[in-house]
Amino acid sequence: MKEKLMECGDLLEEVSLKCYNTFRVGGICKYLISPRNELELQKLICYLKEENISYFILGNGSNIIFSENYYDGVIILLKHFDQIHINETKVEVGAGVMMPTLAIKTIQSNLTGLEWSVGIPGSVGGCIYGNAEAYKESTFDHLESITLLTPENEIKTVPASSFTSGYRTSYFKENKGYIILSAVFHLTYGNQEESLKQVNKRREKRLSTQPLEYPSAGSVFRNPSKDFPSGKIIEDLGLKGKQIGGAAISTKHANFIINKGNATSNDIRNLIELVHQEVKEKENIDLVMEQEYVGWD
Ligand SMILES: Cc1cc2nc3c(=O)[nH]c(=O)nc-3n(C[C@H](O)[C@H](O)[C@H](O)COP(=O)(O)OP(=O)(O)OC[C@H]3O[C@@H](n4cnc5c(N)ncnc54)[C@H](O)[C@@H]3O)c2cc1C
Repeated sequence: MKEKLMECGDLLEEVSLKCYNTFRVGGICKYLISPRNELELQKLICYLKEENISYFILGNGSNIIFSENYYDGVIILLKHFDQIHINETKVEVGAGVMMPTLAIKTIQSNLTGLEWSVGIPGSVGGCIYGNAEAYKESTFDHLESITLLTPENEIKTVPASSFTSGYRTSYFKENKGYIILSAVFHLTYGNQEESLKQVNKRREKRLSTQPLEYPSAGSVFRNPSKDFPSGKIIEDLGLKGKQIGGAAISTKHANFIINKGNATSNDIRNLIELVHQEVKEKENIDLVMEQEYVGWD
């Protein structure tokens, strides 16, 4: 297996997943591989499917909760899918590029449209998968096309409008098996100074309203509705500051669970389940998670 994997990208063995997610938790994975190009990725997926080996496509790990279990499979990183090509108002970008990097690069090219995403610590692939959004703008709003590896292991470029998207979701979240390789964003010409002003203002707002000094994976639950934020519901139940082991509900923002330094995945999961149960019992609201558990089976 190892020899075969080495033909499909840069390979690491017995890797701590703690370094690969923003919660800084998780166990060891058997293999972590970074394919160097589309052909290697295609070859890799073909092999893993043939041999029935489990795998997971990892972006920046900012919306997932790895378990402490040994991951007896292959974690795939698209860090080599890192190209950015700007041609007038069209921006072609690899799935492994960080969304804030892309946003700043487009602003520097006098383009506007991605300012909203500067505070989102996700990759382009992860942001498309979950249709990341902020300040009433979302990833799909500016997408023209997506290049994918389909479940049939074919590379296809498809107009973004062919795929459904919604609040913190997309076709890819509902239909597993697609790998986003790259995308084209269609932006407009803007004013660099204005864009940077907006970015800085929002950065300050995030710093004062979100516990960015601690590891987390952003908001835990989706908001039941736009006027009914989960953070407010959790805060009103007096749960701010509640702690299990090293995991705590942030006192700054009640929809953030933070790692106070030594949290385990189990601490985080137990705290999430406690909040879910309390909200269900006391408010009769079935909160839906935004974050995703990985490797818990
Ligand atoms: C401090 C903080 C603030 C945040 N603020 C926001 C916010 O304002 N708005 C918001 O929407 N989110 C926010 N998030 C959550 C998170 O950053 C986003 O959901 C982001 O889009 C996740 O991207 P990722 O690359 O980290 O994905 P990961 O967490 O690595 O993966 C998430 C899912 O995407 C899939 N995936 C990743 N790459 C690909 C690919 N190339 N092809 C197919 N599937 C793929 C993974 O398999 C997984 O199922 C925040 C998180 C943090 C820590």
